[in-house]
Amino acid sequence: MHWLEVSLTVSGEAAEAVADVLARFAPEGVVHEATQFEVTPDDKGQTVGPVIVRAYLPADAALDATRARLEEALWHLGQILPLPSPHYRPIADADWSETWKANFKPVRVGRRLVVVPAWLNPPLGPDAMRVPIVLDPGLAFGTGTHPTTQLCLAAIERHLQPGTPLIDIGTGSGILAIAAAKLGAGPILAVDIDAEAVRVARENIAANGVADRIRVEQGSLAEVLSGQFGAPQPAGLVVANILARVIVTLIGQGLAQTVTPGGLLVVSGILEAQAFEVHAALQAQGMTLRAQEHLEDWVAIIGQREAA
Ligand code: SAH
Repeated sequence: MHWLEVSLTVSGEAAEAVADVLARFAPEGVVHEATQFEVTPDDKGQTVGPVIVRAYLPADAALDATRARLEEALWHLGQILPLPSPHYRPIADADWSETWKANFKPVRVGRRLVVVPAWLNPPLGPDAMRVPIVLDPGLAFGTGTHPTTQLCLAAIERHLQPGTPLIDIGTGSGILAIAAAKLGAGPILAVDIDAEAVRVARENIAANGVADRIRVEQGSLAEVLSGQFGAPQPAGLVVANILARVIVTLIGQGLAQTVTPGGLLVVSGILEAQAFEVHAALQAQGMTLRAQEHLEDWVAIIGQREAA
């Protein structure tokens, strides 16, 4: 089967409307591809920037008619929302879903971890010795390729004591919680304000066989502190990979209280230039700066709560 790929690069706000229109003509569904994970500060900390919306029209006898109807539908939408012209590309592939998935490769992280896309076979060779995190990120953030995720994974690998309870705030795809579980942490509480992330994280956690040790809930720090998600609270290791502005707000709201005395807090999603603000916020809460790790323009900051 041959396909005609149609794609439009649009704002995050327009993406849903465009996807709805394309879905009417694309029997196999529509793919959203975020172009920018290095989100500019935004209080919710979700992915921002343009989104590529792609759909695949069957290249059959009806293609010309389908394409004309699609363009008409986009023209109507374009009267309400400014839209670029669609871009077309023929795909001679039996299964287009494999075409885009083929771009994802296993990612080695730290000394012991490898992130494996869920649709690939388990890694062979030297990677087979590593602890695999099997992931299908869907629309959630956290594929293992982003520097902040890698910094957090490396920090977990380095600082986690087996059996330590862990809290993951802003879990996204669940990647950090899964890595922690596979490295022996537990019990683990993972939260995210985004319902889609919670759904994706639960699927990934089940696929990795660690559902018995990770509880995933929709919410943020306030719900964790209220105890409504139960134990473990506080935890010996707390990770939050969101964005500097969100992290500073969370620290002001009592993030340090989720850490046991003497325990560690790993925060990332922070650009180098924003690190000092986070240091100041941590110190104002009586935390000691233990380390700062750098990758590209990003940092992860590790703070320690004073021992009781
Ligand atoms: N932990 C993953 C994903 C990080 S992306 C990784 O390291 O790769 C940040 C996630 O935080 C997103 O899924 C977003 O929905 C969530 N988030 C943003 N603001 C939040 C907040 N205030 N509280 C909890 N989660 C938040």
